[in-house]
Amino acid sequence: MATQQQKGNCYLCGAELGKVAMKNHILKLHSDSKGEQECCLIKVEGMDKRYWLLLDMPLTSSLKNLDDFLRKIWLECCGHMSAFEGPGYQEYPMSCKLSAFPEGAQIGYEYDFGDTTRLQVTFVGQTRRKKQREVVRLLARNTPINWKCAGCGAPAELVDTEDMFGEAPACYCEACAEKAEIDLDMALPVTNSPRMGACAYTGELDHYGFEEYVKRNGK
Ligand SMILES: [Zn+2]
Ligand SMILES: [Zn+2]
Ligand SMILES: [Zn+2]
Repeated sequence: MATQQQKGNCYLCGAELGKVAMKNHILKLHSDSKGEQECCLIKVEGMDKRYWLLLDMPLTSSLKNLDDFLRKIWLECCGHMSAFEGPGYQEYPMSCKLSAFPEGAQIGYEYDFGDTTRLQVTFVGQTRRKKQREVVRLLARNTPINWKCAGCGAPAELVDTEDMFGEAPACYCEACAEKAEIDLDMALPVTNSPRMGACAYTGELDHYGFEEYVKRNGK
């Protein structure tokens, strides 16, 4: 199966580009060489690589700061445990500063050690930005994947968590979910997250959709 690309939006200017082009776009157009904050440009991907984020965070911030952000945008359902891991299952302390990771370093991340969501974190390179209060600046995020209803092909709203193990999760619009007699207690909303359909994930902390984010930040 060919690797499907999923484009994303630049949260600084709105450009819609693929993942690699977006990284170059951000380094070329949005790095502020006079900025006071020395930062790490970070890429986060799901096991399904169509889910991706580009962020920057000060070198003095920690993995805990990244963990907090990932929980909000992609993961949090019931306050599960999480961990960052290096080669050989070596676990990094949450207090570990980002300055510890050389350019190009890659580490794993797991949220929930039962119904686990695994992510890959890449320290792409160093950049600078103007001083800001929020530790994490969201630079780019994949556009929502168009999950289609298995019954009628319309945009899907629900995932049947009892049927997650095929090539793609079984997704339905509300009308077809009722017709197909899906157990609605076992259905979860379609979300723009690699945790869609897992445990009790509903995406309620995800206020980072491109349009609402831009509206809120008045750009
Ligand atoms: Zn841009
Ligand atoms: Zn949970
Ligand atoms: Zn339908």
